[in-house]
Amino acid sequence: MRPDLLNPLFAETAGLKGVGSALSRPLERLGLTRLRDLAYHLPDRFVARRVVQRFDDAAVGENIVIGVTVREHRASAGRGPYRVLVEDQAGDVVALTYFGRASYSAKKLFPPGEKRWIAGRLDQFGQTRQIVHPDHVAEDSAALAGHLAEPVYALSEGLTQGRVAALVAQALEHLPTLPEWIEPGLLAQKGWPGWCEALLAAHKGSDALARDRLAYDELLANSLALMLVRASNRSRRGVPLQGDGSLRAALKLPFALTGAQMRSIAEIEGDMAQGAPMLRLLQGDVGSGKTAVALHAMLIAVESGAQAALLAPTEILARQHAETLTRMVAGTGVQIALLTGRDKGRAREATLMGLLDGSIQILVGTHAIFQDAVAYKHLALVVIDEQHRFGVGQRLMLTQKAKTTAHCLAMTATPIPRTLTLAQYGEMDVSRLDEMPPGRQPIDTRVVSTDRLDEVIAGVGRHLAAGGQAYWVCPMVRELETEDIAAAEARHALLSERFANGTIGGGVELVHGQLRPEIKDAAMERFATGKAGLLVATTVIEVGVDVPNATLMVIEQAERFGLAQLHQLRGRVGRGTGKSTCLLLRGEGLSEVGRERLALMRETQDGFRLAEEDLRLRGGGELLGTRQSGDTPFRVADFDQIARLLPLAHDDARLLMDRDGGLDSARGAAARVLLYLFERDWGVQLLRGG
Ligand code: ADP
Ligand code: MG
Repeated sequence: MRPDLLNPLFAETAGLKGVGSALSRPLERLGLTRLRDLAYHLPDRFVARRVVQRFDDAAVGENIVIGVTVREHRASAGRGPYRVLVEDQAGDVVALTYFGRASYSAKKLFPPGEKRWIAGRLDQFGQTRQIVHPDHVAEDSAALAGHLAEPVYALSEGLTQGRVAALVAQALEHLPTLPEWIEPGLLAQKGWPGWCEALLAAHKGSDALARDRLAYDELLANSLALMLVRASNRSRRGVPLQGDGSLRAALKLPFALTGAQMRSIAEIEGDMAQGAPMLRLLQGDVGSGKTAVALHAMLIAVESGAQAALLAPTEILARQHAETLTRMVAGTGVQIALLTGRDKGRAREATLMGLLDGSIQILVGTHAIFQDAVAYKHLALVVIDEQHRFGVGQRLMLTQKAKTTAHCLAMTATPIPRTLTLAQYGEMDVSRLDEMPPGRQPIDTRVVSTDRLDEVIAGVGRHLAAGGQAYWVCPMVRELETEDIAAAEARHALLSERFANGTIGGGVELVHGQLRPEIKDAAMERFATGKAGLLVATTVIEVGVDVPNATLMVIEQAERFGLAQLHQLRGRVGRGTGKSTCLLLRGEGLSEVGRERLALMRETQDGFRLAEEDLRLRGGGELLGTRQSGDTPFRVADFDQIARLLPLAHDDARLLMDRDGGLDSARGAAARVLLYLFERDWGVQLLRGG
């Protein structure tokens, strides 16, 4: 049960003043459903604005407040931006540019001929200056006086800075007094403020001490929760599985296992033979051969008369796994079935029966395999592919599906540095596939200036004409997702037009995060089956399909991606026997760090090395423009803070667990509050009587 004193923080945002149905969707999209979320929606940065008389007085990139006269409105055809032309005292004209739904409000805000005051960042777009989505618009200057310095919050479509700031302010009025969970000695040594004070300060200005304290709280909650899981797992009963090796011996794989694969299998075998359930993470780069390792683990279960389930993050991946595994076990008599959300009727019934009577020994599927209707005769091993899509909470729920706690093997291709491994998988043992199967061709990686876009497009054209397939990746970099999608759509339109002359096989498909899943799946499928030659995508293809015929990848604005992400993307090519190429397009004005990052991509294909370097480069204070969500399980702590504070939090959590494993002392009680605050309450629930 959540402690009562946290209740005000967990009240729904929907109950706040001024939150109607129009705001609830955008708030939800940002994950701001409770007051706590608003309180922790910390500013991305703080902006200082200068009042200028004329646009010429401001530098490109500067945040300004200026009085203007509205001249005219220009809608563009199709999905292009909506522009309002305004002029300053000197008669210089600048465009106010709006994308998506924001255009509607722009139509009303700027009656032609009238005067308006605007606050926003002056940008250069080609030859013309523009302000994209002005931050504030008012009829008189006084209304903007309070906006000369203010926090900048992450937004989603339908929200403005002013709205978010007002909601955050309301949430901050409801902060309760919480007991201190940080060790007093550490608090004093660091000079950190109390929890309440820290939150208020973090919204007011750049306050490193306040932000560090808040980040530490989150890291401590995470470490503590992972340790609770681990302790609880140790005390839980699983079924020791030995296996007689008969099925593994009957396998006829077309290759010999690598040393790393054999080592990992031995580690897994050791775990599964124990009474305590296995909790192991298998880390291995794309192509390192995780599937064969997973199969060996599953066969240990089957040899012992039990069942295994493999969970994949998407429908397509599930199907690919089922096919691969079925091929691998040919001749052994092992029964493998596929179950996804799409299966209905008789086929689904038959699968459910087979699971119940044990005739199906290995089930592969999406999360549909854990629905209540799906009952197993004796599920003893759960394998989760592409682990990072699932949180620890879900992971736990899955293993509880078995009558006794199932052994759990999680697999990830995301190479993460050791410190982050600790943060994300601290409760798990880790096996690493640090050796690639022999014969892998290196991917020819080149850095190309965006100036040469036309040549690149021509090159892609030749590749497609020769029957090859290619990926074209557009970045997610702007504050509003819709703007990125608009850019990807524009790129898709351009490429479709270029390659529409019939000489080039297949169509050009587009996938991005705001497409309905069935549409996205259908597009992916046309690409996977070779019906489409080119796939234009935002980073949604990061975890995804295996199309060996796709041997070319173009990544636009590559400098905006993290190394780990680039590596992950690049891993989509080089999967077949053909030679593969990856073109990294770089924009103008590449920073030193950006240059270093791209050079590293050219130099190495070792995911673990890239991950370590990535952390080093990001820790160096490089601003990425956007936080890459999904990289870490944290919403407050950034990379730098993780590197500095996680080891401390880890030690502190260990100390607390050693002294008070049941969290019964006064500090233990405060720590429980902390766990609930960060919704790591699955940790608390594992405590007896928690
Ligand atoms: P991952 O899931 O780790 O990205 P896969 O399991 O899909 O990698 O394996 C990638 C490819 O390498 C597959 O075609 C697989 O058959 C092959 N492979 C796996 N292990 C070996 C090995 N030891 N030697 C040669 N090829 C291998
Ligand atoms: Mg795989």
